[in-house]
Amino acid sequence: MVDVGREIMWNVGHAGQYVSYAFMVIVAIILILGLKKRYAMWKIGKPSPIQFTRRLGERIGYFIANGIFHKSILREAFPGWMHFFIFWGFLVLTVGTALVAIQADFTDLFFKVQFLKGGFYLIFSFLLDLAGLMAIIGILMAMYRRYVTKPTRLDNKPDDAIVLVWILVVLVTGFLVEGARIAHSMPDYEKWSFVGYITAYMFAGMPKESIEVTHKVFWYFHMVISFGLLAYIVHSRLLHIITSSLNMMFRGVEDVPEGARGAIAPIEDFENAEEFGINSVDGFTWRQIFDLDACTRCGRCQDLCPAYNTDKPLSPKQFIQDLKAEWERHCAGVKNEDGMIDTTIQEETLWSCTACMACQVNCPVSIPTFDKNIEMRRYLTLTLSKTTSETKLLFKNLQKNNNPYGMGKKERLGWTEGLEVRNAMEQEVEYLYWVGCVASLDDRNRKVARSFATILNQAGINFGILGTDEMCCGDPSRRCGNEEQYLGTAQGNVELLNEIGIKKIITTCPHCYTTIKKEYAQIGGNFEVYHQAEFINKLIGEGKLKLNPALEGKVTLHDPCYLGRVNGIFDQPRSVLDKVSKGVYEEMGRNHNQSFCCGGGGGRIWMEEHHKRINHARIDEAIAIEANTVVTACPYCLIMMEDAIKDKEKIETMKAMDLSEVVVKGL
Ligand code: SF4
Ligand code: SF4
Repeated sequence: MVDVGREIMWNVGHAGQYVSYAFMVIVAIILILGLKKRYAMWKIGKPSPIQFTRRLGERIGYFIANGIFHKSILREAFPGWMHFFIFWGFLVLTVGTALVAIQADFTDLFFKVQFLKGGFYLIFSFLLDLAGLMAIIGILMAMYRRYVTKPTRLDNKPDDAIVLVWILVVLVTGFLVEGARIAHSMPDYEKWSFVGYITAYMFAGMPKESIEVTHKVFWYFHMVISFGLLAYIVHSRLLHIITSSLNMMFRGVEDVPEGARGAIAPIEDFENAEEFGINSVDGFTWRQIFDLDACTRCGRCQDLCPAYNTDKPLSPKQFIQDLKAEWERHCAGVKNEDGMIDTTIQEETLWSCTACMACQVNCPVSIPTFDKNIEMRRYLTLTLSKTTSETKLLFKNLQKNNNPYGMGKKERLGWTEGLEVRNAMEQEVEYLYWVGCVASLDDRNRKVARSFATILNQAGINFGILGTDEMCCGDPSRRCGNEEQYLGTAQGNVELLNEIGIKKIITTCPHCYTTIKKEYAQIGGNFEVYHQAEFINKLIGEGKLKLNPALEGKVTLHDPCYLGRVNGIFDQPRSVLDKVSKGVYEEMGRNHNQSFCCGGGGGRIWMEEHHKRINHARIDEAIAIEANTVVTACPYCLIMMEDAIKDKEKIETMKAMDLSEVVVKGL
């Protein structure tokens, strides 16, 4: 009976074993020293409030789902499967090599126990060959993509080519070693090593002595370049194996809609700070610096960035890479005495961002950009008092009249005329309707406030408003870098809300929603907050609201960034639309997490837009599907969509509506 298995270290004997031990030690030293240096570079950042052990199970679960099983990476088929093949191929090969080492250097050496034999050996051989083949396919896909199809989001550095070719040579020589070994005796059971068995035919007809010499040459070459590749990890893009995995665990749990996604971190010790914001790379926290190192330059963020796609001078990938280059120069002793702003990152780049979070949410390793951008906006606004003329006017209006329009506070009640709306300052109410500046003061959006109040009345909800006592929630000040103004406004709001005993708040604006729900908690404001889309859906579910199909024609939904991507509210508005739509519902090309911004967030609605307009790019998608009604659930989006429809001369066939307005039609 044939013994199924193989002699470990066949043909290379103890000499090969000792040489590989020596290389193992050298590589381990190179890796440790390289990581130690990198660790010192990460540590130039300020302390970060992260408690890594908090929700550790969830962090690990997030990494397993997204890092190991590629949930986020597979959102794009070709690059997703490409990475999957390389990752899983190498994972299985690493486990296989470890099993060989365990048998050779432990179980066999000390106990004369060999487990790589019989049926297990056959399955082991098959899986390892399959893994090697998968990895080769993945590498060839990567080469094809990088050097043949060349998507614009990829930039090619020499390191990319070195890594791909090096890995390919390691994999191919691995099969040549296996093929030469099998060719020596061609045992039938080695057909399970299907790639090695086919490769063995390359050596068919050679004398056994020549096969042994060839095998030995390939074996040593393969061993040296494999260890070399391991050592190269800390000096190349391969470092992302470590940094990206860790970053998923640092960010994963916090970067989920029910976590802190979308909330801006406060300035530590604001009262005593001498300088606000950041203009030197060592002002970032170590975790923000770690983000820079974890970036794989995949460019997914750039593909979805509304600023980049409308020719603004901002690419989130380049932004991260420019900061990374600044950090590496800083660590190499080349200090930027002039600061990063206007040298490494231009002011126009900072102001181009709509804070839409498309980059962060769609980044396979959860890297945010706006958390770094806002620190530089803060530096410009608060430390240098250098801001755009539009934001200067915005701050002035907010300072004087507590709203971005600079309108008198009595105007806030303009939309209530003829409606039954209680004043929460005068009587106790169950829910506070936080109207927001735009729905209170913008003529078009006042219709939304009226519609929503009508819905609440119809459903018999005990609600009230703050009326003339309502102030801006603080979102525009904060996102334009004026933390001082934000704090003044937000603290005043929280004090007032607590004083009059408000517990539950509903709002029609996703920006107010995010600020009140996620940011007021930073200053002692803890409320049960609902967006209208959630609340209307809840009322329908409770049977308090009955809707009839009333909306004619083709309907589509524009997901507001701060409703969908930031807070995960995707299904509720769709479910409401399903009840009121009489005609056809169709999604635009980009929807849910990939939805394209309207262009109004991050304070951009208060600024002039140059280059191609973001709202035009978005409405083109609605035009492409011949939608008659573009429904949204955000006052900024409504303004932007309506403007775009007018600019594109589509008012005859298309209109923009808020969800509340649509619901009123179905009452
Ligand atoms: S937040 Fe939006 S606009 Fe800003 S860089 Fe990211 S994708 Fe671009
Ligand atoms: S930030 Fe994320 S999405 Fe953008 S290039 Fe880096 S890894 Fe890719």
